[in-house]
Amino acid sequence: MEYVERVLADLKAKNPNEPEFHQAATEILNGLKPVVAKHPEYEKAALLERFVEPERAVLFRVPWVDDNGTVHINKGYRVQFNSAIGPYKGGLRFHPSVNLSIIKFLGLEQILKNSLTGLPIGGGKGGSDFDPKGKSDNEIMRFCQSFMTELYRHIGQDTDVPAGDIGVGGREIGYLFGQYKRIRDEHVGVLTGRGLSYGGSLSRTEATGYGLVYMTEEALKCRGDSFKGKTVIVSGSGNVAIYATEKAQSLGAKVVAMYDSNGYVYDKNGIQIDVVKQIKEVERGRIKEYAARVKGAEYHEGCKGIWTIKCDIALPCATQNEIDKESAEILVKNGVKYVGEGANMPTTLEGIAVFQKAGVIFLPAKAANAGGVATSALEMAQSSGRLFWTFEEVDAKLKNIMINIYHNMDNAAKEYGCEGDYVAGANIAGFLKVAAAMMAQGIV
Ligand code: NDP
Repeated sequence: MEYVERVLADLKAKNPNEPEFHQAATEILNGLKPVVAKHPEYEKAALLERFVEPERAVLFRVPWVDDNGTVHINKGYRVQFNSAIGPYKGGLRFHPSVNLSIIKFLGLEQILKNSLTGLPIGGGKGGSDFDPKGKSDNEIMRFCQSFMTELYRHIGQDTDVPAGDIGVGGREIGYLFGQYKRIRDEHVGVLTGRGLSYGGSLSRTEATGYGLVYMTEEALKCRGDSFKGKTVIVSGSGNVAIYATEKAQSLGAKVVAMYDSNGYVYDKNGIQIDVVKQIKEVERGRIKEYAARVKGAEYHEGCKGIWTIKCDIALPCATQNEIDKESAEILVKNGVKYVGEGANMPTTLEGIAVFQKAGVIFLPAKAANAGGVATSALEMAQSSGRLFWTFEEVDAKLKNIMINIYHNMDNAAKEYGCEGDYVAGANIAGFLKVAAAMMAQGIV
């Protein structure tokens, strides 16, 4: 059996019941076929087998007590996937769907994403099946303290530096950091996405959404086009979605729809992002509220319907597998020209095939949403140098990084004979650096 097929078959046999991990590995390894063909030494060094096996995976119990005195037990995870090019780096996700398969898919993706940024950061990911929705601030704090009481022994500013993801924003990072500092007696950059008063970086909150739009803008620019006058759909209404919407609108696009896990809002006049921020960031409410507050806006129960709205550009920014084959076909039929993935793996493998066959410019997550982790690495640099850059400085660096990533994946795709296939291009460009570091460091 050919090398990539053999590694994938072994991975599926050794890790049954991990569909998301299989999906991510299949996408990545298939994209690497031209690389392993050119580098037979990788097979001899079992490089792919090592690449898909985490260096370490920690699973732990997270006990906590709610406001009524009831004891709850959640599962905690940290997968330290690959440290060949730098300390493990990657977010923590708090969501009831979290399991080992989801954390491993995110961790594997993170290795290549972090490499693509050009910064010295390895790949990791973690989280819990804890659901922050409907919990009081005190409950969130007690959960975060319990989670960190175990996690602290596995992380460190030069070892593993977690950040936020779904369900982990500024509030949670604050509680996690407070507990780490209390246990270790160290005020160091062990988490990113920190508040500005205790070591955070300006522009980190905006970075993933803005970065996604900077890359999409570059893809448009290379084709003599721009965001001006374009109709855009952004799924989700969390951190990534809000700042993608804000930036796209500032460049002249009209974002007409957003959702949360209950349903979507459609506003033909263009989403008023300040209203969304008030509902989501201040009140922690539901997107349904938007339609009650903005004249002419409609609310529809369920998420899938959002992809039936006609648009030029789709920016999925909520979660994995939001766009399946059927939704991709409807988007194509309605004339979508660009898809930029803000969320991790929001398009199924079948959905990606539909877009690529139709000639849609498809910007894969590990490249398009790398702005968040890139800015986290800038936060780490500021922390260790005791520096504080202005918003404009960080934002300019972010924009530069996103433009570079776009051209690196574009060039890699051309060099390896798959021009325009950015899924392969991103996998190849990210992998080459990790592979070189792993080969140089021996069999470890
Ligand atoms: P948030 O928790 O801030 O927002 C997540 C949004 O997605 C919410 O609107 C949420 O709705 C919605 N959502 C979550 N799960 C589902 C679901 N199953 N169906 C429908 N909607 C859902 O997370 P972020 O914005 O930080 O993250 C969004 C995506 O971006 C994730 O895939 C994450 O991995 C990725 N990402 C985030 C980065 C960051 O810097 N934050 C960096 C790189 C990638 P509800 O509130 O109803 O749950």
